[in-house]
Amino acid sequence: MNNKEKLLKEVHDISNKLRTFQKAYYIDSNPLVSDMEYDRLFDRLVTIERENPELKLDDSPTQRVGSDLDSDFEEVEHTIPVLSLDKAYSGEEIISWINKCQTKATSNLNFVLEQKIDGISIVLYYEKGILKRAVTRGNGAIGNDVTNNVRTIKDVPLRLTEEINVAVRGEIYLSKKEFEKVNKTLEQPFANPRNLCAGTIRRKKSSESAKIPLNIFIYEGFFEKDEYNFNSHIDILAKLKQLGFRINPSLAIFSKTKQKAKELLTLASLKGSANEFDEIYEEIKKQTETRDSLEYEIDGLVVKVNEIEVREALGYTVHHPRWAMAYKFESPFSQSVVESIDIQVGRTGRLTPVARITPVEIGGSTVSNVTLHNQQYIDELELAIGDSVEVSKRGDVIPAVEQVIEKNEDNNTTYKMPSSCPICSTEVEIKGAHTFCPNPYCPKQVFGRLEFFVAKSQMDIDSLGPKTIEVLLKLDLVKDVQDLYNIDFEKLSEEKGFGEKKINSIISALEKSKEQPFSRVLTSLGIPEVGKKIVDMLIKNGFDSIDKLYELVDKKDYETLCNIPLIAEKTSKNIIDTLDDKTMRDRIASLKNCGLNMEENVVNTPKLEQIFTDQVWAVTGSFKSFNPRTLALEEVEKRGGRSVSSISSKTTHLLLGKGGGSKKTKAEALGVKIVEEEEFLSLLGSDKKKKEETTFQQGELF
Ligand SMILES: [Zn+2]
Repeated sequence: MNNKEKLLKEVHDISNKLRTFQKAYYIDSNPLVSDMEYDRLFDRLVTIERENPELKLDDSPTQRVGSDLDSDFEEVEHTIPVLSLDKAYSGEEIISWINKCQTKATSNLNFVLEQKIDGISIVLYYEKGILKRAVTRGNGAIGNDVTNNVRTIKDVPLRLTEEINVAVRGEIYLSKKEFEKVNKTLEQPFANPRNLCAGTIRRKKSSESAKIPLNIFIYEGFFEKDEYNFNSHIDILAKLKQLGFRINPSLAIFSKTKQKAKELLTLASLKGSANEFDEIYEEIKKQTETRDSLEYEIDGLVVKVNEIEVREALGYTVHHPRWAMAYKFESPFSQSVVESIDIQVGRTGRLTPVARITPVEIGGSTVSNVTLHNQQYIDELELAIGDSVEVSKRGDVIPAVEQVIEKNEDNNTTYKMPSSCPICSTEVEIKGAHTFCPNPYCPKQVFGRLEFFVAKSQMDIDSLGPKTIEVLLKLDLVKDVQDLYNIDFEKLSEEKGFGEKKINSIISALEKSKEQPFSRVLTSLGIPEVGKKIVDMLIKNGFDSIDKLYELVDKKDYETLCNIPLIAEKTSKNIIDTLDDKTMRDRIASLKNCGLNMEENVVNTPKLEQIFTDQVWAVTGSFKSFNPRTLALEEVEKRGGRSVSSISSKTTHLLLGKGGGSKKTKAEALGVKIVEEEEFLSLLGSDKKKKEETTFQQGELF
């Protein structure tokens, strides 16, 4: 064996190992080796390939990291039918369709129910077991070749366990958790995981796509006719799984009897739930109720005839197969017209375009204003005033314009944001994707800043409501937050409605606010993205005074803060740059002179026993001992637990008070432990009791 042959053998050996490890890790969720060992082999393969490009295999595991070269998305013709599905909106429609299918069959049919993943539809073409092409759905006949990007998706097998020709259909998606994580770091956030997924699949550089952890589920296989003789859909799924594809395990079979459905699953060695036909209503209800707790978004369910022979007999319409039906969840979309676009100026000076649309009902609420974020967002939508648009509202998410459906007939072109501030006429500045009014004394900014400063979660000066602030600004008694502590009350008392009583209450509230701890003062400065949680983190990690923070600011030290949990690079930059601003420096110096706390008094509260470590608690309903109920979650956090506002598969406990409804149902469906108030109090109490015992023992020592 010469040197080249030796290397080629090594390439094959390492590739085989890496493939096995990748499959174990990404598809079976069962890692076989340590990350270090994996990286060592991976790096070795990269080195060999770089030095000997001719040895690089077509399905090399190194393709997972993508390339920096631009791809063009060539148009290619599909060689399998890429159809959409007929839709139903109720369980009754599904049942009546099932009955119709049944009349066309000579024996009892079985049906398979799968989740309809809200992602990007894709067709993967394999030749002799190697991934050759990944093509978007396109118009059904022709799609775009996005192979280089799809190769970076870790659970797309680059090589199958058999050397066969097959085309498969699947849905590429991004989990909700990863979406939140990635979207936070983007200058230009996406409205939902699907849009971010679509953007990723169409990145020019596959090395960029590789950074977004996309996933895939495969749900159909098209094998060459003489290769296999499948009788049923679940046989195909079982084969796909065996070939190395990731199949959604949440499938359900519906048969004449539960026993029959169970047999089918066992025969195919697939996981899933076995049911009778009548249970389809319950299954739809269950899946609708629990969809929010899934790790990914689904927009419906799909029911398919299991028997291949019957499928062929039922055939196709022009658009749909007759053997499958999609059950669509209540739509989170509606259509409306953009009547005008307003510009709002926030306390940070950011200009935000807001679309005023003809009011529409979406997902149970009326929507008339939709934020357009910034110019880039408008450009991507190519949105003009008068356009008909699709507007969405998903769950608690703010409404978003998804797309333009029809252009206006008034020849309006894509909306452009003004070049000067609509409030103070100062010429705007563009920073990243956003537009700012650079005038710190722009009336809207000052008002926003004051309103934020006095709010309940900041300095909590309740006698200074928005109306009073307006008066103070109108009389020119206040130009910025620090002026609140030097108001000319004599002049204010001349104003109607400001009698002695009112003025005294303002004075005492202002005096009282000087006792607010440094943490509140720091939050009230309104540094972008720096709320209570981040401030607590800063203080906990030693940055418990303004002077300590300015040591970093003066050195432009962006890195130190990044070592603190929860503080990302972007947040660190926000903190340093905002504090470095001249107006901010003056403001802080004045506030310090007025007597506000610029240093945290660290009180040593005795550390409670961490009985809730590794637990994730949610709360619902009302309580006798905890009002508001978030007080109960504070008790959890003090004892090492984590609190969340909604229930997911990660939640371990639900604290259930009086009148807790939907969260309880969801918790039960997910097997989350439910704890009621009395039991919770005794958990806290046992901890308290133990502490008393400890004190007692210490007392004995003396
Ligand atoms: Zn302005």
